[in-house]
Formats: sequence, C-alpha cells, structure tokens
Amino acid sequence: MSKCSCLLVHGENTIAYLTKDRRGLTELDCVLCGKKKKDIIRKKQTNQSRNRCECPDVSCCQPCIDDMKARHGKGHNGTKPPYTCKTHGQYREYQDSLIGFKDWCIVMVTISIIPLGLVVFETGIDLNWIFYSGAIVTIPCFPPVILSIIWVKATGKGLMSGGAAGLVCGVTATLVTASFYEGGLSNFLLNTVQNYAILAGTCSSFGASLLCCIVVSLFTHDIKTVDDENFEWQKCMT
Ligand SMILES: [Zn+2]
Ligand SMILES: [Zn+2]
Repeated sequence: MSKCSCLLVHGENTIAYLTKDRRGLTELDCVLCGKKKKDIIRKKQTNQSRNRCECPDVSCCQPCIDDMKARHGKGHNGTKPPYTCKTHGQYREYQDSLIGFKDWCIVMVTISIIPLGLVVFETGIDLNWIFYSGAIVTIPCFPPVILSIIWVKATGKGLMSGGAAGLVCGVTATLVTASFYEGGLSNFLLNTVQNYAILAGTCSSFGASLLCCIVVSLFTHDIKTVDDENFEWQKCMT
C-alpha cells in the first residue's frame, strides 16, 4: 500500500516539476539545463554546439562529491549545509523537498483509504472473487512493461494496443468459459472464478497482450539501422 502511494506521489511530483519548470522539453533534452543532450548532437552531427548540454556526469562531478562529504557529517544547528554544485545542486534540493512531501502524502493516502475499506466491508463483496478476477484485468499490463524496458523497437501504439487487446480478450475468455459451467453467467460470482474460467482468462489476456504488442510495434517502429537503435537508447540516458 505504501509503495503504491509512494509511486503515485513521486510520479505526480515529477510531472509537476517537468510541467512547471521545464515545459516543452522533449526526451532529447537535458532536464538539468534544457539543452540538447550531447550524445544526440554528436550522433546527428548537427551544427548546434551553442544549444548543446555541457552538464558534467553526476557520478564524477567534483562539487557534488564535496557536497556529499560536507552534508554527511553533523550539520550546524541541526541543519545541513546547502548544495554548492551549480549543475546538480538545484535538482538535489528539489529531490530533498520531495522526500519530505512524500512521507506526508503516504500518511494522507493511507488514511483516506480507510473509508473505502469500510464500504467494501459493509457491502460484503467477496474479496476472493476480487483477487481472482483482478488478476485477469492486471495481467495484460505485464508484457508492455517488460517490452518497454528490454526491446528497443517497442512503440507507444504497440504497447497501448497490446494492453487493450489483452484486457478485452481476457475478460471475454473468462465470460465465455464461465457460461459453459452449470448455471452459466446467472451464477456470475461462482462461475467466473472456476478453475478453467481463470485459466482461460489469464492465458488469453497475457498471450493476446504480448502478441499484439509485438505485431503492432513491428509495423509502427521506424528503426532501420544500428545507429537508429543507439539513438533510441540515448533518449533514456543523460
Ligand atoms: Zn544539461
Ligand atoms: Zn554536481
């Protein structure tokens, strides 16, 4: 639960930061300075040296190492010394403010879930049924998540259509299989969680999602050479 709200809050904060301070950035721009990433300029061999990011790598940035050392020890009057790195200092300050904000958000989200829990408890919904049928509606999201990390040719259109196709196929397969059991769909809560109904639903939601992601991505990507592939990978690195 706390992981869930943590992810939610972090995602929202990042979006707030990007939309407020870095409006109009593309995946080819550096989030620190807003200029084009250097590797991309080099690859494209364009003549935009003025618009090129010159931010040093955070792992070997000397001012950052000094900052970390200074802040590691006991601070003055219980406060830490401010960041002095001109490139990464502001972003580190922003991250620190998020950590404090995140803790409070987790508490608030957890408290506001209590009424929902009471409603579920009062209505007498079968939690086993929710668990089983919930698997069928969440499984279609796994292939898109994995493919977006490991496969360079995965496209947004491919992953979205894969997720949607998996959801539709999974729900349909569960309902069709459940209708073959005694009482059919009129005995909804019992028949939709029978063994074969769950098996058909999970297998078809995963299979259809994976297949659709791959096929649609293959038709919609525009990667032709190894250079294109490297260029695509560069988008997720600074
Ligand atoms: Zn930069
Ligand atoms: Zn730095």
